[in-house]
Amino acid sequence: MSAVRPVRTGEQVATPEPLITIKSAAKVYGNNRGLSPLNLAIHAGERVALVGPSGSGKTTLLRLLAGALVPDEGPNSVSINGKSPANLKPGRELASLVGIVSQRFDLVPHLPVMHNVLAGRLGHWSLARSILSLVWPMERRAAQQALARVGIADKINERPGRLSGGEQQRVAIARMMMQSPLVVLADEPVASLDPARAEEGMALLVGLVHSDLGHANGDGRSSERALIASLHTASLIRRHFTRVVGLRDSRVHFDLPAGELDDAVLDELYDLGDGYGDVEPLAGLAARDG
Ligand code: ADP
Ligand code: MG
Repeated sequence: MSAVRPVRTGEQVATPEPLITIKSAAKVYGNNRGLSPLNLAIHAGERVALVGPSGSGKTTLLRLLAGALVPDEGPNSVSINGKSPANLKPGRELASLVGIVSQRFDLVPHLPVMHNVLAGRLGHWSLARSILSLVWPMERRAAQQALARVGIADKINERPGRLSGGEQQRVAIARMMMQSPLVVLADEPVASLDPARAEEGMALLVGLVHSDLGHANGDGRSSERALIASLHTASLIRRHFTRVVGLRDSRVHFDLPAGELDDAVLDELYDLGDGYGDVEPLAGLAARDG
């Protein structure tokens, strides 16, 4: 199911403006190319999986979108809802535009889960710290509801350092529910989880953009949102995403409807063809033709 549908206005068919526009955005780190000039347009309602070998530029692309890196061509080569994330200071405006679940979840280990979740509301840690002394009953209730939705209501007073990887991810997702940004980014969110937890984690992430149930404030913006996540599992991508972008050598190698992704497409991207890359097969196990 593609979310990009033309809007019919009488006889004319107008395609809506993309929510996200990346125009020849690139990033070089010293001598390393992080991302080659890249163009991508993503519409509201899309759920885009980013795939590609390690070093292909997935994290760089996500951090450019999150406003955590400035593209070499200038901040305006990345636009979300008409704004350039790198031009916005950390704070409410950036937080309502875009949020990222990083690979390590970025929780503050020594603060209770409740405060970690409430930080989503504030979009900035210095602000979060400044309310530690205040107990806002309404906010506390919202944090409780978000934690209940991700199934860990009982962990509200726990420290993240004492939670499993799957539970930490749920705290990060509950924090994102409080933040409620238009664009949700996730960098290898399920890489450290077993298959069952990965499936649940992915469903929760999709809930953040695909249903108002995923939001603490039920603000009716679900159809305006988008999800972009890096991951490596074809079956998860087919089940949860609408589109898949393959990166290789910091370039777009393919851009397909998620339903067309099969293991052969992924194997080719990851160089897992019949040669298995350049890896020498073990002697005696390598009886292959040609
Ligand atoms: P991926 O997330 O797909 O593994 P990255 O975006 O992390 O890829 O990296 C893309 C390229 O940029 C790699 O060659 C990597 O070594 C390089 N790179 C990423 N971050 C840095 C950095 N902070 N300093 C130098 N090189 C970097
Ligand atoms: Mg990465």
